[in-house]
Amino acid sequence: MASDNAAPTGLLIIGASQSGVQLAISLRALGFEEHITLLGEENHRPYQRPALSKEWLQGEVGNESLIFRSAEYWDEHNVTLVKDQRITEIRKNPDGSGVAVAESGAEFPFKRLALTVGARARKLAVDGADLAGVVYLRNADDALALKAMVGDATDIVVIGGGFIGLEAASSLKKMGKNVVLLEHGPRLVGRAVGEATAEYFLDAHRSRGLDIRLGARISRFVPAATHDGGKAVSGVEVTVGGGTAAGGAAGEGTGAEGTAAEVIPAQIVLVGIGVIPNTELAEQMGLAVDNGIVVDSHALASDGTTVAVGDCANMPNPVPGSPAGERIRLESVNNAIEHAKVAAYSLMGRREDYAGIPWFWSNQADLKLQIAGLSMGFDQTVVRRDDERGKFSVLYYRKGRIIAADCVNAPLDFMAVKNALAKRQNIPADTAEAAAAVADPAVQLKTLAV
Ligand code: NAP
Repeated sequence: MASDNAAPTGLLIIGASQSGVQLAISLRALGFEEHITLLGEENHRPYQRPALSKEWLQGEVGNESLIFRSAEYWDEHNVTLVKDQRITEIRKNPDGSGVAVAESGAEFPFKRLALTVGARARKLAVDGADLAGVVYLRNADDALALKAMVGDATDIVVIGGGFIGLEAASSLKKMGKNVVLLEHGPRLVGRAVGEATAEYFLDAHRSRGLDIRLGARISRFVPAATHDGGKAVSGVEVTVGGGTAAGGAAGEGTGAEGTAAEVIPAQIVLVGIGVIPNTELAEQMGLAVDNGIVVDSHALASDGTTVAVGDCANMPNPVPGSPAGERIRLESVNNAIEHAKVAAYSLMGRREDYAGIPWFWSNQADLKLQIAGLSMGFDQTVVRRDDERGKFSVLYYRKGRIIAADCVNAPLDFMAVKNALAKRQNIPADTAEAAAAVADPAVQLKTLAV
């Protein structure tokens, strides 16, 4: 354990998840020679999260397969892992050095600092929110708690129709549970995909037997006494299809005007209604914060010495050719990796651009969604679908140029768009003829890139 007297580590990375791990690995690959401390608040070795809502939950892969690197790897690379320490204060000097202080009182002096602090689950503040059986799925402890309960449950309500909700609901359904998914918006995956893709997912999930209710206003979690004298959730009281502005996180679940309230039975309620970036340490340090820690295109925060990476960072849109000044905070594995590489260069005194194109994936039952690019600001879409082969893609355009695509079970479309974006090519759809060719699933998209 570090103390006041300990020599400062060369780099203290606060946050031992995807971006923190990648930063340490990339720095070693670039020849960073100083000692690195990779510190996390969880009491687990750094692990990969994507499988928590899928293969791991279903028991297809075990705990060990989620671990990023062996203890030997970190030893050999002069990286000290620190678990179970929550940093609550950072005292930083203008040269970039300083001391991080943990809740436990332990102090971690550093020469340079990286914030890879991620984001936390938004909480749904309705009556009964603290009942046993109401769970989230953001980290390993959440996942372990869910898995421990799942065997005894027959009815599960999933709240939130984003990636976490749809992935987990699909997994739980596959595990034989009665699953009802409640989404407060008028459509699924509102933040990440466009209207046509959302419709496709709604139909596809419903046709696979998943009970999805849109426009759901949750008023409370219904308690029941447990055999040991405690209270656990037994259902979710919800009104579906009514109301307009109500809904959202934190206590906004009431005030609906739709159908009469109904109680859906549930021994488990899994809430996946988005995340909040962890910006408290940055705020306390006086760094610029605006929906994440504001960084420049080289992952440097407003003090010019601290790097901030991944889910917690608000950065310039990294897609080549995007409008000047456009900023974004990305919550994805791919971004955690690519952004960490940019930060590693910065810490080595080099200024390198974000490599590649942001991309995302989400596996829900047999639906494999891949998203290339960022669709924000689109003014045209073209849908390609091949129902016979179960393929579906939507291409997004801004001012006549391709900017993104959502591709379901269509990896070739995904690759074609991702490659075109990386090469700054277009897949034109600005005439009726061009749009018809893009929409024709018999035409390979890559042949249309110019
Ligand atoms: P998300 O993508 O923000 O989706 C949350 C969903 O919950 C939205 O559809 C939201 O609707 C809805 N919602 C919000 N308040 C609600 C309420 N009171 N009642 C019912 N629904 C409500 O976040 P997430 O699915 O929780 O995922 C958390 C994070 O993990 C995200 O960063 C996500 O990208 C990441 N993740 C990624 C993957 C992947 O890339 N494959 C997989 C799992 C998780 P509105 O949009 O209308 O507010």
